[in-house]
Amino acid sequence: MKEKKEKLSLKKHKLPTMQEKILDSFCINHTGKMKGMSSVSTCCLENPLCIRNQSTPGSICQHCYAKTMQEMYKDLKNKDVANIELYTKTLIDAKDIPDVNSQWFRFESFGDIFNRTHLENYMRIAEKNPKTNFALFTKNYGVAMEYFKENKCPKNVTLVISSMFLNKPMNIEPFYKTGAFEEGQCKCFTVYDYDYLKKHKEVNINCGSRSCLGCKLCYDRSSDKAPGWGVREVNEILKSDQSKAEGILIVRDSKKVDEIFNNILDLEED
Ligand code: SF4
Ligand code: SF4
Repeated sequence: MKEKKEKLSLKKHKLPTMQEKILDSFCINHTGKMKGMSSVSTCCLENPLCIRNQSTPGSICQHCYAKTMQEMYKDLKNKDVANIELYTKTLIDAKDIPDVNSQWFRFESFGDIFNRTHLENYMRIAEKNPKTNFALFTKNYGVAMEYFKENKCPKNVTLVISSMFLNKPMNIEPFYKTGAFEEGQCKCFTVYDYDYLKKHKEVNINCGSRSCLGCKLCYDRSSDKAPGWGVREVNEILKSDQSKAEGILIVRDSKKVDEIFNNILDLEED
């Protein structure tokens, strides 16, 4: 009887397997633009690169949304801190990688890659889940370059090189020169502010910032009709400038202007 009780209590306190830990590390309840997407992240408050970037004058990291969220929500921060241990210290065995039950998945929505082990673990997850479309967003250019000089990017991954400075797209040519990427598989993501957009009509704002699930530009290269096929540049308006800047973009878009006029005419006829 005593033995049975001990066995039962051992069962009750059974430690989670590696697969369970990885599944628990995923975030499936995003709000805002990531609503409906899945992701896995580490904590930007503990990432030396993020800390340095956040104090670099003029960097986009000075407007870091992830920092605000992780300072505000303790549970989110704790989960992302635990993920540092899980992903950055040792390589995960293929047998321990679970099936990802999601079609669209982002690597790092609240932080950045710490080191090569971290990046390699993400690539292992992608390789084990060829039906899921992954996007890895990073400003850790050095680690990404070192890794992709030696490894092809899995077909179901888009590498999104996030530009460090407002209004200044990174040169992603060196990534293509590694030979690791198909056309459009490496993209440059840049944030622009109102003042710059006012003067530079040529900037094509193609990130709607409303819903990644509805847009998929950073994720879907599945056919030549897919939104992300062949696209190398993704441009977004700085969040705090969005309502101001959207006005000037509408005025520049002749189709939208026609639409507005037609709506006004329809209203007048009614
Ligand atoms: S790299 Fe991303 S998560 Fe890190 S500080 Fe910059 S914006 Fe924030
Ligand atoms: S371009 Fe589309 S998929 Fe990429 S971040 Fe913007 S809304 Fe999301």
